[in-house]
Amino acid sequence: MPEIAKVAVNDATIHFDKLYSYLVPPQLAGRVWPGSMVLVPFGRGNKPRMAVLLESETPAAAPPRLKSLLDAAPEDARLTPDLLELVRFLKERTFCTWYEAVKTVIPYGAQYQPGVVDGRPVVQNRLARPVERVYSLSGQGVDALPKKPKPGPKQLAAVAALQSGPMSQKQLEAEAISKATLDGLCKKGVLCVAERYKPLDLFAEIPFDPQPMELSPEQQAAYQALAGDLAAPAPRAALLHGVTGSGKTAVFLKLIEHTLELGRKALVLVPEISLTPQIIRRLKSTFGSRLAVQHSALNNTERLLQWRMIQQGNADIVVGTRSAIFAPLQNIGLIIMDEEQEHTYQSESAPRFSAHDVAKKRAVMEHALLLLASATPRTESYFAAQGGKMRLVTLDHRYGGRPLPRVDFIDMRAELAAGNPREVSARMAQELGANVQRGEQSILLLNRRGYRTVGMCADCGHVLKCPNCSVPLVFHKPQQALLCHHCGHKVAPVPQQCPACGGKLVYSGFGTQRVEEELQQLLPAARILRMDQDSTGQKNAHETMLARFAQQEYDILLGTQMVAKGLDFEKVTLVGVLGIDSMLFGQGFRSYENVFSLVTQVVGRGGRAALPGRALIQTVVPDHPVLQLAATQNYAAFYHEEIAFRRLGLYPPYCAFCVVGFTGGQEGAVFQAAYRFGALLKEHAVQRPQLPLRILGPTPMNIAMLNGKYRYKLTLKCRNDAAFRALMQQTLDAYAQEKLPAKATVQLDFNTDGDM
Ligand code: ADP
Ligand code: ZN
Repeated sequence: MPEIAKVAVNDATIHFDKLYSYLVPPQLAGRVWPGSMVLVPFGRGNKPRMAVLLESETPAAAPPRLKSLLDAAPEDARLTPDLLELVRFLKERTFCTWYEAVKTVIPYGAQYQPGVVDGRPVVQNRLARPVERVYSLSGQGVDALPKKPKPGPKQLAAVAALQSGPMSQKQLEAEAISKATLDGLCKKGVLCVAERYKPLDLFAEIPFDPQPMELSPEQQAAYQALAGDLAAPAPRAALLHGVTGSGKTAVFLKLIEHTLELGRKALVLVPEISLTPQIIRRLKSTFGSRLAVQHSALNNTERLLQWRMIQQGNADIVVGTRSAIFAPLQNIGLIIMDEEQEHTYQSESAPRFSAHDVAKKRAVMEHALLLLASATPRTESYFAAQGGKMRLVTLDHRYGGRPLPRVDFIDMRAELAAGNPREVSARMAQELGANVQRGEQSILLLNRRGYRTVGMCADCGHVLKCPNCSVPLVFHKPQQALLCHHCGHKVAPVPQQCPACGGKLVYSGFGTQRVEEELQQLLPAARILRMDQDSTGQKNAHETMLARFAQQEYDILLGTQMVAKGLDFEKVTLVGVLGIDSMLFGQGFRSYENVFSLVTQVVGRGGRAALPGRALIQTVVPDHPVLQLAATQNYAAFYHEEIAFRRLGLYPPYCAFCVVGFTGGQEGAVFQAAYRFGALLKEHAVQRPQLPLRILGPTPMNIAMLNGKYRYKLTLKCRNDAAFRALMQQTLDAYAQEKLPAKATVQLDFNTDGDM
């Protein structure tokens, strides 16, 4: 009986993401399994589409008339059972489509697409395969070469060169042996040829130079508590809460060492690309070259080669950002999430997963230890640790007994009253100048890029906004243009007259470009390095910039949140914080946590070595409790306040928070869709009275229009369990059946702080 394959296709919508059945044709029999990437004829026109095979069965009776699979990708493109389980997990938890989940767990370069060969539809690699041809002697070496016809000098040279082992085509060509010669010898059976992925050592320049490292007594105690969990046969989770500069990295290194001794592998996640060079350097010099990375600053080919290296079992340690959690690493003993509080661990496009959830799932699958680490853990994580769901391990002191930086506030109301038109206060400028003179370094945080952040009419108050997005346009000086930070919309030259009334436009608000300029005027001798999304577009820009700062080619590192976390420079003794107030009054239930974390982290960049550190925070609300707590770096007190607020307002961890987003081109239709969805949800929820659920909205999202699409949301406070997810699935199915004037796209997100 022929086999039937059930597949999920690419480009489905969440309302129509079913499994479709196809016959497995004879030429593919025995070549496809669950996890195989296949090509299917789809829809009325039978257009070829990629799909993933999820189930197969051999029915007892002859199947009804079904279409057949067209082609299948090679074996090494098949999702392993582990990755397939992660695909199911993503589908179930995030309500994405099957194929979206597939595209999340395998990198672009390892994916396939429909193509045509000899008029027939086939699967095709997305990238030219980064492989090379490797030649070797097939038999007895020289003896294999037939005596007649007499071998030519090139042929003899090829055989001689290969006596000492296989060589790539490139190596042989370097010895003036052509591909034609080699292929001729292959035909004669003298040589054989194989393809292999090109070797790629991304960190060749980092020497293997393990330094003996001794843990401090406090680090040693933390290590020992965690090492016990590493050897345990059951999955475990732990939170390493260590103040900035306590040496969490040293504990990681020891744990990784122990993991490798146990014959297992380690996965290390960091929240941002800017933090990868530093940790890669430590890991490579300590553990050598069986290290692979996965992050978006690699090009597709590099990414694929590193992925294959992991897949083929040639990496013991994988380092990367969020998506590295899907690395095809086997036998994982330890998963580390450094700076676990960072929002970058949550994906902001479908599938909207949280790396925490996937890491937890993988730790369970692999019986691994999941270690979250931070000086400022998420309230939810600390709550779980306090409640005994995770082991709590703390480092209360900086390494070497160094003091935490002393923090002072600069009251910007006084600065304004004194008529200072600059963002950089007189005191800040003076302290920075003193640091330059002493040959010490400073870090300055301003979490807004661009030059001027708002353009407003002095007469009528009209604010220049992006035509596609409901956000103000930002003036960028280098381009002499207004730019939308969301969709990239550009307006040049920069308008001077109000489009509404013809009045005079005034540009205000400070971005990093403006502050860089002020600093240059105030401190002409200072060497300033600006680091933000605009200055780090080039490949390896982060790495190069941070290396140059480390070598003290600059006095001041000025930047957005990318300068705030994880960095470790011994000469930094002053940290300045600018423009933090707007974050304090931001929306979302996590805004205090975010400010506390950002300020604590950036302050913690100072005084990490021999020289003591100090920090200055510019604000108009120096008495704000969150700033006060961050200044004393008192996490315990902050947590105490925050958890009370969460309990009172019913926010996570006291409930799950799910935002259902609706987007579309017509505002009325989007609102109606959201409204209808809410009604359907209520109808279905009535049948499950035991489920806790509160439905808020519909309301417009904080950014009510994005990329020309209107956006509304429903906010659900719920318990994210199987029963609730079943209810959501039912509602989505019912919504798909609705006859609405124009359908809005629906997205669910369980990881937001109140918006999308
Ligand atoms: P954090 O906890 O903030 O991540 P780091 O791991 O960056 O702290 O450590 C802070 C500084 O202390 C680094 O410069 C690091 O090299 C040094 N350090 C920490 N632990 C040790 C140790 N056991 N031996 C030598 N240096 C250490
Ligand atoms: Zn825009």
